[in-house]
Amino acid sequence: MSTHAPRFAQSARGAAAPGAETVIDRLVESNRAYAAGFTDPGMGARPVLGVAVVACMDARIDLHAALGLQLGDCHTVRNAGGVVTDDTIRSLTISQRALGTSSVVLIHHTGCGLQTLTEDFRHELELEVGQRPAWAVEAFRDVDQDVRQSMQRVRTSPFLPHTDDVRGFVFDVTTGLLREIDPRV
Ligand SMILES: [Zn+2]
Repeated sequence: MSTHAPRFAQSARGAAAPGAETVIDRLVESNRAYAAGFTDPGMGARPVLGVAVVACMDARIDLHAALGLQLGDCHTVRNAGGVVTDDTIRSLTISQRALGTSSVVLIHHTGCGLQTLTEDFRHELELEVGQRPAWAVEAFRDVDQDVRQSMQRVRTSPFLPHTDDVRGFVFDVTTGLLREIDPRV
């Protein structure tokens, strides 16, 4: 941390030196350029393809490019692992019941950070901060099995009216190719 008085006393500029550009400053700057070339697509909020994609937050997965998706085509729900948590079900429920989607694609990937963690992560966190998180880490060893479990959680959710078209995949971060997971086995 800098010992100099910050130029903007109350601004959230992280640990950057006063006046230095932070990564978020860079994003905001990029947005100005984006908006300058942006024209209102005149779309509604309902995804054109009627599909919701649940995927890991991994930085190596460019979902739109990898699946040939365009702006407005789909809902994307991303979290650590691309696991189906209560909050994922919340988003899917709103996606299906309020915004007309009926297909669900689940995407895990090779080399996922969650394969290197265990539920000990929670225990260590509790020891460090004195409070046990309410959420599960959702760590896994077998990525195929975790995709199957995620498909099962979607298919058995009482809140989702559309569970016929649910398919799960593992994205290979080195080839860019999806491998489909058989829900049986
Ligand atoms: Zn991941």
